[in-house]
Amino acid sequence: MKNPKSNFSEWYTEVIQDAELADIRYNVKGFLAHMPWSVRTMKKMYLILEDELERKGHEPAWFPALVPESYFKKEAEHAKGFSADVFWVTEGGSENSKFPERLAMRPTSETAMYTMYSLWIRTWRDLPFKMYQSCQVWRFEGKSTRPFIRGREFYWTEAHDVFETQKEAEKQVEEDMDTTGKLLKELAIPFIFFKRPEHDKFCGAVSTYAADSIMPDGKLIQLPSTHFLGQNFSKAFNIKFVDKDGKEQYGWQTCYGPAVWRIFGAMVAIHGDDKGLVMPPSVAPLMAVIIPIYFKGSDEKIAEKAKSVKKLLEGAGISSKVDDKPEHTPGWKYNYWELKGVPVRIEIGPKDIEKKQLVLVRRDTGEKITVKEGELVEKVRELLEKIQKNLWERAEKFFREHISEAKDMEQLKKTLNERGGLVKVEWCGSVECADYIKAETVGGDMRGTPLGKEEKPKGKCIRCGKKAEQVVYVGKAY
Ligand SMILES: [Zn+2]
Repeated sequence: MKNPKSNFSEWYTEVIQDAELADIRYNVKGFLAHMPWSVRTMKKMYLILEDELERKGHEPAWFPALVPESYFKKEAEHAKGFSADVFWVTEGGSENSKFPERLAMRPTSETAMYTMYSLWIRTWRDLPFKMYQSCQVWRFEGKSTRPFIRGREFYWTEAHDVFETQKEAEKQVEEDMDTTGKLLKELAIPFIFFKRPEHDKFCGAVSTYAADSIMPDGKLIQLPSTHFLGQNFSKAFNIKFVDKDGKEQYGWQTCYGPAVWRIFGAMVAIHGDDKGLVMPPSVAPLMAVIIPIYFKGSDEKIAEKAKSVKKLLEGAGISSKVDDKPEHTPGWKYNYWELKGVPVRIEIGPKDIEKKQLVLVRRDTGEKITVKEGELVEKVRELLEKIQKNLWERAEKFFREHISEAKDMEQLKKTLNERGGLVKVEWCGSVECADYIKAETVGGDMRGTPLGKEEKPKGKCIRCGKKAEQVVYVGKAY
C-alpha cells in the first residue's frame, strides 16, 4: 500500500476499497454503498455524540427529508446560499404527476425544523428548546466527490436550539464547541476552532465557528461547525414566545452540524499508514483479533485456547474475534487485520500453549509483547490505553508541525505549496484581499481567527500593505 503522507490521494482511494469501508461502484455520482466496517465505526461515533448532546439537554427527533420550496425560501440568505446545492423532487406516481410545488431534498434541516418549531414554541416556559436529529442530507456538489470527504449524500447530526436571550444562544455556541472537543479527542483528531470571517459564514447566520484539522497531505478539513443565527430565522419562520412580562418576542437561535461521515473520513486519513487503517480503540469495531497458529498435533489445544481467550476478553468488555478460517495462512490474516486497523492482535501458537503465554502485537507501532496467560486482560487493557494515547500524540505532533507563519506573499505561497497546513498572516479584513490571496495561492482560504487565542496584529496586511486588522490563518481545504 502507498504511504498516506507522500501519496495521499492514491492511498485514500486504496484504503477505502481494500479495507472494505465503502463501494463506489453504485454509479450515481457522490452516492456510496457503505459497508459494515465503516458503519459499525460510525455507529460508535454516533453513540458518543448523541450521548453528549442528550446529556446537555437536547431531545432527539426525526423530521421529513422533503422540504416544500415555499418553506425553503423563507430565509432569503439561506435560500440564496443553498440554491445551487439542492436536489429537487418534482413529480411522483405512475402518471408522473407534477407536484403543485417543488420539494427540496434537505441539504440541511433549518427550514423543515423551524416550520414546526413555530407551532411548538409558545411561551418562555418552552425555552430553552434544544433538539437534534441524526440523518442523511443531500447536496448537489459540483466539486469532485470523494468518499467520506465530499459527497452528494452524507450522514450527520444537526442540533437546532432556541433561547430567550442572545446571551444564552451565544453560550450554546460554546457548549457546541465543547461537544466537538469531546468527540474529536475521543477519535484522537487534533483541531483548532476558528471564527470564520464575515465572507465565509453559513448562509443565514450571524456568525460561524468551525473546527479545522489537517490531513496527511497538508490540506485542511472542516469538521463540526456551529452557528449563531441571531433572530434571522426566528423572524423568517415566526418562532415567537410570550416572555415573563407577557410580551411577544422572537427566539434567539443556534445550529450545530457535526458530520459524522466526514469526521470518519478525517479519522481514517489522519491515523492510517502504509499498512492500511489504524483505528482508535475508542471506536474500533473490534478491539482485538485472535489468530491461532495451527501446528500439527496441537490444533485442538490451540483452537480451544483461542476460544477461551475470546471469552475472557468479551467478559471484560473488550470486543474480539477469533479468525480461524482454515483457507488463510496466519501471515495473510496478519495483513488483513492490519489493513482493517484492529488495535491489538493476539497470536497463539504451540510454543505459547506450552509456555502458558500469549503474544500481543500493537497495530500502531508493530511492537510485539509476550504476556503471561493470567495477565492477559490487564495487559490488553493497558495496551488499548497506550494506543489511544499514542494516536493522539502522533496526530498532535503532525498538526503542530503544520502550523506556521508568513510575513509576505512569497513566503505564504511557498509554505502552502510545499507543506500546506495552517499559515498565520496579518490581514486588513477586506474581501478583496482575501480573494486575491486565494487566487494567488491557488486555493488558500481565509480560515479565520482561532477562538480563545485571538492575537493583536502588529504590522501590515500581507497583501495590500495597509494596517492589519486581524491575525488570521490561511490554508487549502478539502
Ligand atoms: Zn489587505
